[in-house]
Order: sequence, then C-alpha cells, then structure tokens
Amino acid sequence: MTNNLFADIILPLAVRGRFTYSIPDNIEAEIRPGVIVNVQFGRRMVYSGIVCRVHDNQPEFKNVKPVIRVISGTPLINTSQLKLWQWISEYYLCSEGEVMKAAMPNELSLSNFKSRFESFIKLSRGFTDEELNEILDKLKKAPRQQEILSAYIRLTGYSKGREILPVAKSLLLSESHSSAGILDVLIDKGFLATISLPVSRISEKDSFREPVKQLSKAQTAAFKSIKSQFAEKDIVLLHGVTSSGKTEIYIHLIEEQLKLGKQVLYMLPEIALTTQIILRLKRHFGPVTGVYHSRFSDPEKVEIWKRVAENGLLNGYRLILGVRSSLFLPFSNLGLIIVDEEHDGSYKQHDPAPRYHARDSAIMLASVHKAKTILGSASPSVESYNNAVNGKYGLAELKERFGLIKLPSIVLANTREAYRKKLMVSHFTPELLQAMDQALAKEEQIILFQNRRGFSPYIECSDCGWIPVCIQCAVNLTYHKGIGKLVCHYCGYTSDMPSKCGNCHSTGMVTRGFGTEKIEDEIKIVFPSARVARMDQDTTRNKNSFNKLIRAFEERRIDVLIGTQMISKGLDFENLTVVGILNADNLLNYPDFRAHERSFQLMEQVSGRAGRRQKQGKVVIQTSDPANKIIRLVLRHDYVNMFRMQSEERRTFNYPPYCRIVKISIKHKDRVQLNYYSDLLGRELKEIFGKRVLGPESPVISQVQLWYIKIILIKIEKEKPPAKAKQLIIEAIDRLEKEKGASTLRIAIDVDPY
Ligand code: ADP
Ligand code: ZN
Ligand code: ZN
Repeated sequence: MTNNLFADIILPLAVRGRFTYSIPDNIEAEIRPGVIVNVQFGRRMVYSGIVCRVHDNQPEFKNVKPVIRVISGTPLINTSQLKLWQWISEYYLCSEGEVMKAAMPNELSLSNFKSRFESFIKLSRGFTDEELNEILDKLKKAPRQQEILSAYIRLTGYSKGREILPVAKSLLLSESHSSAGILDVLIDKGFLATISLPVSRISEKDSFREPVKQLSKAQTAAFKSIKSQFAEKDIVLLHGVTSSGKTEIYIHLIEEQLKLGKQVLYMLPEIALTTQIILRLKRHFGPVTGVYHSRFSDPEKVEIWKRVAENGLLNGYRLILGVRSSLFLPFSNLGLIIVDEEHDGSYKQHDPAPRYHARDSAIMLASVHKAKTILGSASPSVESYNNAVNGKYGLAELKERFGLIKLPSIVLANTREAYRKKLMVSHFTPELLQAMDQALAKEEQIILFQNRRGFSPYIECSDCGWIPVCIQCAVNLTYHKGIGKLVCHYCGYTSDMPSKCGNCHSTGMVTRGFGTEKIEDEIKIVFPSARVARMDQDTTRNKNSFNKLIRAFEERRIDVLIGTQMISKGLDFENLTVVGILNADNLLNYPDFRAHERSFQLMEQVSGRAGRRQKQGKVVIQTSDPANKIIRLVLRHDYVNMFRMQSEERRTFNYPPYCRIVKISIKHKDRVQLNYYSDLLGRELKEIFGKRVLGPESPVISQVQLWYIKIILIKIEKEKPPAKAKQLIIEAIDRLEKEKGASTLRIAIDVDPY
C-alpha cells in the first residue's frame, strides 16, 4: 500500500523534466531530497535517480509507479547542488538528468559502491605505562611477540593518556619482522585488537607547512580593494599582468575564508596547471586541500566527493582545486570561489550536454551559497571586463610584475621575409634561433609554443595536390610520425601513411605544415646537445605525465619544452627566459568572432611564462604579418586597447557582450535530408525571431563521424530576460522533432557558445 506521498525524481536521461513516483509506506521515512532511489522507467529499465521533492499532489497521469528501493539512506546530493543543477538545466536548455550525469562520479549512484578496507591493529584498551612495561617483561620468553608490541609502541608513540592510534597490520608486521600467526597470539591474549578501516585511494604527502607570504605594496592595495568591493559586490575581477602575484592574493583570501570555517573552490582551466598550484596551496593549508579533475578514477572521485561532503570533519576537504567539473562537488558551506584564467575557453563544455560555462555557473553556485566570486586574468574576457567597466562587477588591478620585474620584451620575426631571404632554418627564424642560442649558453630554459599536435597537419601529393582526408569527417588527416600513421583529430580514425598518391599514384607524397612533433624533431637536429621534451595530448595520456614533465622542467632536466596550449597558461618556472611562438598566423586567421581576442590572450599568456623571477624575459613571435593590429597590441601588452577595439567591433556587428547567442546544430547522415530539415527549422525560427536568425549554414568542419552538420545562430537582445526566447526556441525544436522522419536528426542546443 502507498500513502498519498509522491517523489519528483531526476533520472539520468536526456528528457527534460522530472519524473513523479509514489512512495511506498515502508520506505517513506527514508525518502528525502538528495537521496538516491531505484525506479522503473519504460517497460524494462531500472534507473538510479535523485529525489528532489516530496509532495502530496496526485499527478495527472494514471498508473503512477512506486519507488522500488532506496539506495543510499543519507542524501548524497544537498539542496544547494539541486539548485545549481536546476539553474544549469534551465539556462543551458538541457535536462537535469544530463547535469546529473556530468556532476556525479558513476559509482556514487551504484548500490554496490564499497570503500576499500584494510586491517589495522591497535591496543585493546588504554594501558598504563607500568602495565605495558609489565607485559613486555612477561613476554621476555616470547621475543617475537615482544617485538610486535614494541614496534606498535614505537610506531604510534603511545604512552598513557595518549590517543590509541591504529597501525596498518601490514606495516606492523614488516616493522617487527614478524608473522600474522604470532600477532594473533597477542590478540588472543587480549593485548592488541584488530579493526577494519577504509583506506584512502588518493596518495598524498603532507609537505612541510609555511605561513603565507607577505604581500607587496601593490598586492596589498589590490587585496584591500577586493575586500572593500566585496562589501557591495559579489563578484570582483582581478586584472593583473602575468606574474603580478595574483595567486598570492588568492592565497590570502583563502586563508581568511578557512579561518572563518568556510570552504573555498579554486578553479583552473587546465589539468596541467593543478600540478604546480596544488603544491603551493598544500604548503600553506596542508591536508584540507584536495584536487579534482577528470584524470582521477571513479573510485578516487567518489572518495574526493565524500571528503568534500565531510567538510569540517577529520579528513574533510575545505579547499578544492579543480577543473570545470569541480563545480559539482557537494559543497555545503562555500565562502569564496576563485575562477583563475577566467577568459579561458576550456571552461565551456562543448559536448555532450550540459554545455555549461563553468565561470558563469560558478557565479551561480556562489550566489546559492551567498559566497563571493573572484575572477582572475591577465587578459580578461571581453564579457567580464565589460561587466567590470559598467559596474556590474568590481575591478581590482595589478599593473606590475611582482618584484618590479619588467614584462617580457617581444620581438616580431617576419617569416615571409626570412623565407624570401632564405634565412629560415627549418621552421625557425634567425631571431628565434639567436634568442635560443643565448639562453642555452646561459643554461636558461625555453618554451616553444605551437598550437597543433602531431607531425604535420596534412600530407599532399606533390604532383597533383591530392590530400588524404578522414573517411568519416570533412577534415584532412594529421600525420603522426611517432606511430607512423595518419590520424583524424575529430573522430580518432587512423590509417597507414600511403606510399603512393591515391589519385595519380605518384610516389611524391610530402608533409605540409608543422605540429609539435615536427618541431621536437627539428630542434633536436638544430640543437643536438639540448635536452628537448614535448608536452601535448599525445605525451600526457598517463595520469602522472604532467607531474613528470613539469617536475623535470622545474629541476632543469629539460632545456627546451615544446607544447600546445597546455604550456601556455599559468605555469611558473624560475629559470625560463625565452618563449617562442612558432606561428601566430594560424591563431589569428581562425574564423570565429572571438579569434582576435583569443589570439591576444594566448600570446599574452604564453609570453607571460618568460622571465618571472629575476630578469626580464624575451618572446619571439613568428608571423608572416607583423603589421597585424592584434600583434601590435601584444607587442605593447596593451590589453585595454585590445578590449576597446574588440568591444567596438562586437557592438557594430552585434555579438556578445551586446547580445546573447543560442547556437543550434543539426546533424543528419544524409545531406539532402539535413538540408530539408535545417531549412524548415530556419524558416520557423525566422518567423518568430526575424533577422535575429543566422543560417542554416555549414560550419567549417561540415561533417564529423559521418554526420553532416548545419548551424543556426539566434542572437537575442541583452536587455530582455532570455527565458521567453529560449522557450520559443525549444518549442520550435520540439515541433521539428515531431515532423515525419525527423527522428533521424540529432539536434544540440548551445547557449552562449564559446
Ligand atoms: P600570477 O598568479 O599573477 O601569475 P604569481 O602569484 O604566480 O603571479 O606570482 C609570480 C611569482 O612571484 C611567483 O613565483 C610567486 O611565488 C612570486 N610572488 C608573488 N607574490 C609574492 C610575495 N608577496 N612574496 C614573495 N613572492 C611572491
Ligand atoms: Zn597525385
Ligand atoms: Zn574523422
């Protein structure tokens, strides 16, 4: 029998809405928001879902199914999290179930999740010192038993009145060179006892602790300014040039929050960055500091999740350093969120839904907790800086590097001219080679940045121009020399390197362009005695590969590090003086309204790695277009004028921050059908939104994994709340999906595409 109570439940499905089930009497007491339950959905499927509301409103449909069972008695999701999920699903037009899938480690919702337990040994009761001495003296005739007990005392430092600490059984046996049989005798005699304790899956060493550093005058001023602006505003943008000491300011803000008993979330865009910052944070805050990113295994993620939930308890995490998904951890008491490198595109999730922006969602999360948010960057996004200029956010600035070290000097190297004068050595200009020579002679270190991995972005027949392309995507295949294959960077398809042209059978296949792998090869030839390494997706597939590369560079076991955007951000190396940007052109020529902003940010960011400690660094930018406006601005580190210029363009052509964009992508395996349905949707939307609709158009990559793609953009006025427009978009898509044959389409909505 059921009483008249019902539960609204979030299921991990892409279907919008919550699902209502009846609550059987026998489990009524356990059903609360945040609890995980099993329910039937459809004919056969049983899902784990999250209860988000309990009520007595009889649903309108018949045959309301009952909740089958409760998986976790205690709520695993708190109400703040449920609020965030709801906001994300409403704002980004996805289901709460999709948010749930992104938010929770899989194993958390399984009924059979088990911690790993290990046997520990402890004293059976609080013996006095005299008693212990007496026991040791009894045991004189059993020296091996005596040794176990002495080892226990040695390891735990036990004496009367002290806490009785457990020692791992394996450790005790190895310390006393003894066996389990002999240990059992001591247990039988009632001196020692066994307990089973969950063990951590996360290896952490507690480093020695240091007080936080004293802030410089400029830092103190910025710190005070942030705090006074927090009195009126919830969000402050910290605009500080690279190496101005933003991180130290965060550390001071964190210290204050921890003293108040609050939790802090510190977000970074890139896993590679967590390696250095986590050490900096642990040095000050010790074991309350945890790190979270996608390289952790599911059981490790579950443990971190639980330790965040155990805020305040022994072992609880109160400071989390993490990438975008760390937003979903079960914080109960956040005081501050730091979004470092807030301009970074990796904060936006592209696929699958929820296509959320972690910076904007963090601001929402902070407001749920009534916490403050600090956005930090050396080159803020046009959106955030605009918010600061018009007073929506506070603004604090640091205009000089810590220690008054000058920003790196930037040299432009004209590749077109160098090619013409035959001065290029492989892909390197004389300017870059000279800077590298000088640095290597002084045993200083170098970073070379190239935003393409692999050996060459495509290969080509030198006779007829034939280029091998992916069989599933409309892209050229990238040549990877290390594995000797052509690889598609969109779907992972690989094929052998052809020995002959697929068109004219000529044997003249040549590589074109260059990626990090080729640069690595050629640097080794040009500088045979330099120690060279590469950091990109291909060299960092293992969990510890970031740590190893970063440590090796810190310990000066690498002279030249070549990498993709992974090395461009946030890293802090003492002895790094020269940065080379190998090809600025392919950054600038990307067809996107943010391309210029992005290339400025990337160049500023990667330049910022040079000369951070003792002396001014040097940056060489190789380009065929040294007169380019953006490059001229990078040359002067002139963020504000970059902002003005971009802002003006966006206003003229109506792009964010002057409007909101909703991007709809429509996919079909048949090009004709795709054209038909995307035109239909385009017309429908134009009837509603008129000129605000752009497209349907084919994107630059018009086919991926056999699916042809069309894009429709809708520009919504900034002045009006977007909910109404979004509702109309959803309705138009729903209508399209009901058209005959439309079930073979794939439609994705991306709000604020980035
Ligand atoms: P940013 O985050 O702005 O790039 P960091 O906080 O990493 O800058 O600071 C740059 C360098 O200067 C780091 O090596 C850091 O340890 C050092 N530094 C910054 N502030 C201080 C300070 N107040 N005292 C000592 N060293 C500092
Ligand atoms: Zn050919
Ligand atoms: Zn492909």
